[in-house]
Amino acid sequence: MSQGTDNKPSTAPAPETAATFASLDPRTGNVIAEYPIHDLDDVAAAVKRGRDASVWWAALGFDGRKKWLQKWKSAIARDAQSLAEVMSAETGKPIDDAILEIMLAVEHLDWASKNAGKVLGRKKVPSGMVSANQEATLYYQPFGVVGVIGPWNYPVFTPMGSIAYALAAGNAIVFKPSELTPGVGVWLADKWKSLVPNQPVFQVVTGLGATGGALVEAGVDKIAFTGSGPTAKKVMAACAKTLTPMVAEGGGKDAMLVAADADLDAAAGFAVFGGMGNAGQTCVGVERIYVADEVYDAFVRKLTDKASRLRVGGDKDSSYGPMTLDRQNAIVKGQVEDALDKGAHALLGGRESLREPYIEPVILGDVPEDSTAMTEETFGPMLAVNRMRDLEDGVEKANAANYGLAASIFTKDKARAVRAAENLRTGMVSINSVLGFAGVAALPFGGVGESGFGRIHGADGLREFARTKSVTRQKFNAPLNLLTMERKA
Ligand code: NAD
Repeated sequence: MSQGTDNKPSTAPAPETAATFASLDPRTGNVIAEYPIHDLDDVAAAVKRGRDASVWWAALGFDGRKKWLQKWKSAIARDAQSLAEVMSAETGKPIDDAILEIMLAVEHLDWASKNAGKVLGRKKVPSGMVSANQEATLYYQPFGVVGVIGPWNYPVFTPMGSIAYALAAGNAIVFKPSELTPGVGVWLADKWKSLVPNQPVFQVVTGLGATGGALVEAGVDKIAFTGSGPTAKKVMAACAKTLTPMVAEGGGKDAMLVAADADLDAAAGFAVFGGMGNAGQTCVGVERIYVADEVYDAFVRKLTDKASRLRVGGDKDSSYGPMTLDRQNAIVKGQVEDALDKGAHALLGGRESLREPYIEPVILGDVPEDSTAMTEETFGPMLAVNRMRDLEDGVEKANAANYGLAASIFTKDKARAVRAAENLRTGMVSINSVLGFAGVAALPFGGVGESGFGRIHGADGLREFARTKSVTRQKFNAPLNLLTMERKA
């Protein structure tokens, strides 16, 4: 499919006079469309336009912004098929997966726009005994222009987790989508422009990593980054120069714990969904599974049986598509080889599963904890299944990773599940499911350790994109410490 020139972003210099890059269909390697590589001047111009428009946007207040955000939401939902086609071509994911992703993004727009006033409206707070003469009020004010840098694996849902909340809080956005998925960013910006032609409150800039770096240099007021840990560190170093605040959503190495009393059938089903869905290219995908010794063999039988029935390919009926990013093939291959060389068992597939750009499901058992399959993000359809004595042992093993994004626990014992959830060093936990939090817009999303910091989604996500200001108004004249000073004078 082709994007055509109508979908070029408003901020783009003419492609024939500027450097360009191509978006590719990972299933075929064919060029989908060319996009401009925006340089620092282009990005600075977009930030300036955004800053001007942010004055109008902030002055609209929560209700005024809600109206526009609801219109944008409805337009995205109405034309979801067209956006899904762009996304499917750029990522290779089945069209139904793309539609589901867009609906999740729409849910965030809806929630953020409806709840911003409640969460960020001005609040009187108790002033306490010593300052009883002060009326104390908390203001939540927008930063101004937020630069959003996005990844390719969920190219609408993931950035929308920042965009929706930052817009609802009163900021303008300059969005830099991944160079693998520029078309979805341009589609969203075009949709905004069709509704609000004269107010570039939401703009897109396209390009490689340097265009993302230019956002910081151009002086945005906050960066919302989602991507890999190494890039997050580079962006943070750039932000450090000007103390630009940042929220960082990084990678994961999520663990699933399967207790002896778990519903093994359900756990195996969720493991396949969480580990192989989107070809395993999910930040909160299941990558490590710890199973109680006494049910290990029974669980593995169910897991391999379910995974072996997946259909891998590039059409709409596939369970999952190709690796979107070429580099991922080599990463998965390296991890499989490292694990097998160190003594892991191939329970399903193995070296032979890699038929670029597709990877058939790989399930490895008894994987040495020091192999890269256990320590580094895989981002492919591979599961490592190891043993644990009990949930407490599983929590300890899960917590050994440097990453701490999400985890899941399968058991019928609610009290033990809750205790394990408390002790897991992650930002999110699902009990008897995986990704339970992903569809709940009210729940904050984010990680610990190498998985990043700060929170998007929910009330915390709204506050992430607002500056607090503490304001007092003296109600009557009783300046306590002044009186004390006068007495001492
Ligand atoms: P990436 O780090 O390679 O790129 C992310 C974005 O950063 C891209 O838009 C890229 O162009 C930009 N970028 C690259 N160098 C830059 C620089 N120096 N300055 C500014 N921007 C720069 O990540 P990716 O491969 O696109 O995405 C996959 C990664 O994202 C995985 O690690 C995955 O786990 C993670 N991810 C995390 C979440 C989450 O919410 N925690 C969600 C989705 C993906």
